[in-house]
Amino acid sequence: MINSFRFRLTLWYLLFFSLLFILFSLFLHGVLSHALERRLDEALAVEANTTAAMLQDEFEEMKGNVPAASSDAVSGMRLHGSLVAVLSGNRVLAASTPIPQPQVDFIAARASLDAAADLAVAVPEVAPNGARAAVHRVTVGGLDYQVIALQSRDELVEDLAVLRRVTLLALPLVIVLAGLGGYWLASRSLAPLGWMAEQAHRITGSNLNTRLDIGNAAEELAVLSASFNELLSRLDLSFESMRRFVADASHELRTPLSIIRGEADVALSQERAAAEYRESLAIILDESRRLSRLVDDLLNLARADAGRLKLQSEEFYLNDLLAECCRSAQSLAAARGIALECRPAEDAPFRGDEELLRRLVMNLLDNAIRYTPPGGQVSAALEAQDSELRIRIADTGVGIAPDAAPHVFERFYRADIARSRQNGGFGLGLAIVKWIAESHHGEVALATHPGAGSTFTVTLPR
Ligand code: ADP
Repeated sequence: MINSFRFRLTLWYLLFFSLLFILFSLFLHGVLSHALERRLDEALAVEANTTAAMLQDEFEEMKGNVPAASSDAVSGMRLHGSLVAVLSGNRVLAASTPIPQPQVDFIAARASLDAAADLAVAVPEVAPNGARAAVHRVTVGGLDYQVIALQSRDELVEDLAVLRRVTLLALPLVIVLAGLGGYWLASRSLAPLGWMAEQAHRITGSNLNTRLDIGNAAEELAVLSASFNELLSRLDLSFESMRRFVADASHELRTPLSIIRGEADVALSQERAAAEYRESLAIILDESRRLSRLVDDLLNLARADAGRLKLQSEEFYLNDLLAECCRSAQSLAAARGIALECRPAEDAPFRGDEELLRRLVMNLLDNAIRYTPPGGQVSAALEAQDSELRIRIADTGVGIAPDAAPHVFERFYRADIARSRQNGGFGLGLAIVKWIAESHHGEVALATHPGAGSTFTVTLPR
């Protein structure tokens, strides 16, 4: 559950929205409290000013009776929960409601200093939540008086408390809504992953050509499904080539095996002369050799594919290796009436797997001799250059048709099946040549014309 991506996404969404809501509520509270207090101060300032103006008017009317004028001015005010008082020094001339005596001195002292805001603390008994006040000094009949307007903060505090209560009541609702929203959003954005998993689940070795379809999902998921589809294509390709390899290998194994069985059946079917048994055993031996060669080749290619065949690298002279291969092939060439010429050039030291490179040269020489009619010529040459060595095996044989040439390095491919089988080939020789050249970071190229012979060039970097 904790590890579920959907759960985590929901949780983050929930945390984010709850935090946002709390921060917004705090901000709203601050702004509102400030605005309410300013409005209260403004209202008190207006009350104090108006009372002062009325005091001056009443003074004229009352012919200089300040206490009576103060009383009239104060009682003439229409007040909204505030207290208005006229002071002369620390004496209260008139007040809209009685002020407890201990406060009078304090208010008077502060009012004379015009410390209006501080008056708030002056009346804790009257207003436990504090109070706001405005002071207006006025000169009437040559004497200074202070008009103060004062109001407790109770109403303001109550308004803010309502806001806090509403916020606290709304918080669980916001949390629930944010949770549901987060869960819905997470489910919605993760849904394509679910479809992908479901479709991927249905893909097995037998339907690797199926591709994921996630419709018009978000770009990120489209990239993911495209990568997955590419992976499927690569897997499909390698599965297909593996299937072909196994089918071709089985096919190739069948022929020598059925020859061996046929020969053994015939030999055992009745009593035969010793010479006939010898002939049958010779055929069986021949086919068994072919079989072992095929199995060896298959094993090497399979190991190379699995990356398990390690090169036994050592320093040796490639020109010596070419000369040795030519000597080995000489008897085969002579038996077929083919002139084999070898030009191994000067000393060409090289670092690589000597056994594999011997195999490479022997495969090429073997092919050149096998696909060249009697009277033809085969030449093996080594060209040494600063950065690379080139082994060139050329023949004047049958050549390869242009449409077959690009395929001769493929496994089990034979350009001329009848001739190749008859010559004992399985179509693996050039695939092995290519693999050996590439495992030495080199390459092999073919130049050929039907009827005009073929030239195989192996380039190996030094
Ligand atoms: P194989 O064992 O059948 O010779 P290879 O992989 O060595 O298999 O060669 C593949 C095919 O390429 C052969 O079947 C043959 O038709 C053609 N080929 C290879 N070498 C030559 C050559 N020197 N001249 C003509 N054809 C060749």
